[in-house]
Amino acid sequence: MYYKSTRNSSVNVTSAQAIAQGISKDGGLFVPSEIPFISFDDISNLGKMSYAERAAFVFSKYLTDFSETEIAYCVNNAYNTKNFKSENIADIAHLFDGTYMLELWHGPTCAFKDMALQILPYLLTTSAKKIKLDKKVVILVATSGDTGKAALDGFKNVEGTEIMVFYPEDGVSAMQKKQMATQEGENVNVCAIKGNFDDAQNGVKAIFTDENIAKKLDENGLMFSSANSINWGRLAPQIIYYVSTYAQLVEDKEIKMGDKINIVVPTGNFGNILAGYYAKKMGVPVNKLICASNSNNVLTEFIKTGVYNRNREFYTTISPSMDILISSNLERLLYHLSGDDDKQICEWFGKLSTEGKYFVNDEVKKILNDEFYAGCCDDVETKTCIKNIFDKYSYTCDTHTAVAVKVYQDYVKETGDKLKTVIASTASPYKFANSVLDGLGCYDENSDEFQLVDKLSEVSRLEVPASLSELKDKKVRFSSLIEKDEMINYVIKSLNI
Ligand SMILES: *Cc1c(COP(=O)(O)O)cnc(C)c1O
Repeated sequence: MYYKSTRNSSVNVTSAQAIAQGISKDGGLFVPSEIPFISFDDISNLGKMSYAERAAFVFSKYLTDFSETEIAYCVNNAYNTKNFKSENIADIAHLFDGTYMLELWHGPTCAFKDMALQILPYLLTTSAKKIKLDKKVVILVATSGDTGKAALDGFKNVEGTEIMVFYPEDGVSAMQKKQMATQEGENVNVCAIKGNFDDAQNGVKAIFTDENIAKKLDENGLMFSSANSINWGRLAPQIIYYVSTYAQLVEDKEIKMGDKINIVVPTGNFGNILAGYYAKKMGVPVNKLICASNSNNVLTEFIKTGVYNRNREFYTTISPSMDILISSNLERLLYHLSGDDDKQICEWFGKLSTEGKYFVNDEVKKILNDEFYAGCCDDVETKTCIKNIFDKYSYTCDTHTAVAVKVYQDYVKETGDKLKTVIASTASPYKFANSVLDGLGCYDENSDEFQLVDKLSEVSRLEVPASLSELKDKKVRFSSLIEKDEMINYVIKSLNI
């Protein structure tokens, strides 16, 4: 198995190279040269295994240059009960008739990003060894809130690495900000920018492809890599939980092998749902992939009409991790859907950066419509949905997950589809306690984020994750705030190069 660049199909690297490098030099994303197939027998066997064993199986299909021992080292260090509060790693909650909440937030930072970022440091340092890289890896991260903390937690004090996180000053929740600003570790750096997530992501992408800074890094024995879902090492671990969930549902006799299910994903950068697409292409029986957006509904429009247009108002919502207008991973999907047409991808994404807009041909549009359903909802609908789910099922979900539930309900109304459905639950409600309480009608504007957490625990009767309540007594270590076009200088200064 090799990895190609979405902007140059003749690029041919191993998974270790793709993971260490993060992004291709031409600005494209690394994609597998083929999507490996797994049989129903394989899935049946997985049903009897632990999460770490399931992960090892899926990785063995994608990281073909890793030895069995290397894969075992990575999965065992990441997917254990030291890092995750549930033995299943990802829990499946049976919510209502035929609907399952795939709770991906039992990791150390309480969002689904942990599923990938607890293992990425192991994948990355193993990759660096494999390709005999004798440089220190500097991880640059742009975050809409959750990736930043999850990456900091995963990479803190990992030898041979340094990590730098940029987040939009007004684009993250109070708890998310607290989580990042108090981060401990010798090799970490956190900085707020005046701008939104897209500005942060564009800034990081520009630094990656800047030749001047690349030269400086090289002279100093450093190189950049990415912990965003543009890195294949972020995406591959996300495929696992979809394969694992299907195997588990069969094992639990909730479905029969071969039964199709729907997968609903609250979407921002299109990484999580793309992992679901890879799982489907590998042979997991999936009917529709349902793409749920908040008011930043650029993807809803794209999937419905084939027109991608980022020239629109940017909304700051109560589901901030989805406040994104440039969904990076769409590039991977379109590369596959257009038959690995790198020229076409260069044209579309060139237009996106110059005009902010492109549209796909009818062929691609048709496949998009066959594979995906898309919908969106605003903050008011999100809050109403939180309340409805709580009243009906005594289940408290976070704002992002609520967007997914609402869009799924709309889908069922529109189509009458009765297939069993898995909803990706992407964050603990405690990360967004103020908005969740607001939805439940219990918000008190005079409370700070920790009082709100206590209040939410009273109402929801869910245990407060220690990693959040502990933050209260932690010292703020990072408070820099810079203009978005100062990012490159900030990096140069911080690295002292
Ligand atoms: C990152 C994030 C999302 C969006 O996931 P993408 O892979 O960027 O589409 C949704 N919900 C939460 C809580 C997140 O942290």
